[in-house]
Amino acid sequence: MNEPTESVLADRLRLLVQTVQRNETTLKRFQHIELALISAQTLTEYFDTLFGRLPVDFALSWVGLWLDENSKVVGELLGQDAMREAASEYLQLGTRHDPDLVEALDNGQPWLGMPDHGNLGGTLLSMFGAITVESMIVLPLLSKDVPVGFLCLASEDPDRFAQGMATDLLERFSTIAAASLDNVAHRERLKRIGLTDPLTDLANRRYFDERLREEITRTARHGSPLACVFFDIDHFKHINDLHGHAAGDRALVAVARAARRQMRLADTLARYGGEEFAGLLLQADRVGALAVAERIRKAVNELDVLDDNGGRMALTVSVGIALLRFADATNPMSSAVALVAAADRAMYLAKHNGRNCVEIVDIEP
Ligand code: GH3
Ligand code: MG
Ligand code: MG
Repeated sequence: MNEPTESVLADRLRLLVQTVQRNETTLKRFQHIELALISAQTLTEYFDTLFGRLPVDFALSWVGLWLDENSKVVGELLGQDAMREAASEYLQLGTRHDPDLVEALDNGQPWLGMPDHGNLGGTLLSMFGAITVESMIVLPLLSKDVPVGFLCLASEDPDRFAQGMATDLLERFSTIAAASLDNVAHRERLKRIGLTDPLTDLANRRYFDERLREEITRTARHGSPLACVFFDIDHFKHINDLHGHAAGDRALVAVARAARRQMRLADTLARYGGEEFAGLLLQADRVGALAVAERIRKAVNELDVLDDNGGRMALTVSVGIALLRFADATNPMSSAVALVAAADRAMYLAKHNGRNCVEIVDIEP
């Protein structure tokens, strides 16, 4: 056999260098995106990296995340309901009802190939709606050694993900993606604990005060009207005395739920104190705010909450409203104090006027 000529050797060397350079670029790209996932502070940042940046940086046609809705990590994240609302063409929640999913989750190995009816890729893809995909890799995600879902990377190129190809870099990536999801879930849970009332699951006063400041600033900037509603359960001390503290707690939970249902999603409702609630109604004028307040009053009055002996507890609230039309941009705090004070005065006026009614007062200039 002839010795390779110098030019052939040079060609081989050039190819080798090119391959090394390409691998290095790929590695760097992985490192960058892994760092972004690890340092994600919120679920939104995490999703933006996974669904926004990953497909661009790796020339993928689509990235999807399927999570077991009964897994601890999903519970820790916003709670099942909020996660279901966040579901999109990229994020799906499901249960392990499909035998294909259970097997794939439990064996923990990546799946590669062309998605089709009856294979794992096809099963997952059908849950996300219609997406044209020629090849994909499905990477099982583990949270503290427990399978919680799949990360799916898809391509329009049929040869991009095929059986037999090396998957070590992608498997490492999925480990980091799963650990980062745990991390974000933990952060979100801590945030929620600090800002929610554990009994009613409503926002707490700290959150309300924060939101109030934000909304006042917005009102000052855009002139959008803001209403504040305060309500307090009538004769609640008597209810506790009569029916017991546990029944009183159930009444608090029921009132919170009933009131929350009368408000828009973007509005805030907080447990402000013991049996006192405060709400912020965005874009609400006098008529709109009065309507919401009256709906809350009525919904509470119609509640059927039973005491420990199966008897119905009569529950009513006194509701106060105040409206903020103009906020002082130079001093948002003073507008916030004035708004809350006026809503509180309105609520006491409702108590004074016989309870189970709604009152509105103007902010004192
Ligand atoms: P009013 O109509 O004037 O508001 O009368 P009230 O009895 O509701 O008002 P008061 O402020 O005298 O009593 C509030 C009661 O709320 C006293 C307290 O024991 C009860 N309470 C506060 N927080 C809780 C709670 O978390 N669970 C229960 N069960 N009761 C609570
Ligand atoms: Mg009360
Ligand atoms: Mg009170």
